[in-house]
Amino acid sequence: MRCDGCETEAVIDQPYRGAHLCATHFSDSVRERARRELHRQFPRFKGGTVAVALSGGKDSAVALSIVHAYYRRRPTVRIVAVTVDEGIAGYRTETLRSATALAEALEVPHLIVRASERLGTTTDEVARRMPGTVPCSFCGVWRRQLLNRAAREAGADVLVLGFNLDDLAQTVLMNFARADLGRLARMSPHRHRQPGLVPRIAPLAQIPEREVYLFARLQGLPFDHSECPHASAAARNVYREVVWRLEEAFPGTRHALLRSRDAIAERLFDPAHVGAVARCRDCGEPSTGDRCRSCEYLRESRQTLMGEARS
Ligand code: SF4
Ligand SMILES: [Zn+2]
Ligand SMILES: [Zn+2]
Repeated sequence: MRCDGCETEAVIDQPYRGAHLCATHFSDSVRERARRELHRQFPRFKGGTVAVALSGGKDSAVALSIVHAYYRRRPTVRIVAVTVDEGIAGYRTETLRSATALAEALEVPHLIVRASERLGTTTDEVARRMPGTVPCSFCGVWRRQLLNRAAREAGADVLVLGFNLDDLAQTVLMNFARADLGRLARMSPHRHRQPGLVPRIAPLAQIPEREVYLFARLQGLPFDHSECPHASAAARNVYREVVWRLEEAFPGTRHALLRSRDAIAERLFDPAHVGAVARCRDCGEPSTGDRCRSCEYLRESRQTLMGEARS
């Protein structure tokens, strides 16, 4: 199959728009879609600090490399990469190595935030302590909070996340299926500033996962393939399968799910759904409740530990 833009052999097909592209035209199209999303999600940015969440996987590697290439020639923009080490043996160690390699190659300052230091515990430890709880529930909450804190402390105006089209389509469907309008409203991109929260954006929102992977390979970016040992328990796996089957049967479904969310995003942004942001009574971080979910999980895991010590 030939590329639609030139005579070269195509390296990818895009059934959702009936296109075939060679390596050069494909890479250009990824950069262009990400650039358009940067403009759309974070308009009128003249200068300041851009924090990029860097996990060491393909998505955040692509997000950092694109954001870096885009702002490189603007002296008013400073980029910092932030990696959260949740304390997951045999997984985070590998991904951290890739994250560090990329930050060094791009000469971007790299902050590593460790759950063991900031929270006094790790995902592995709590997963062992609370075997009945899906680790992603507390791990995801802690990572989001630690990323936000690190980005805020670095003086960031925005926090870039590596979510791709598949990730976001799954999240939209998951939130609809759970009738969780609060989370649907709080999904990135953030158009509203909330006290203590660095707005999050997702420039890869229009790029399917397999295209992010191909782009990372074509650009020779260092990234790690390891999968988190706790991931198999995540509900997201079911939604991944559902979205994948929908997309295969009806190309364009992922884009449509995102458009549905965008179409109602403004109307959803009502404190009744989103929850007014206050301060957590324990840690002082932004919270929609009296105590933030991060502290709730910490308390739960400590109570389990105390229960174990008593028995
Ligand atoms: S898959 Fe779940 S447990 Fe593993 S790093 Fe991600 S959120 Fe944490
Ligand atoms: Zn071409
Ligand atoms: Zn708290």
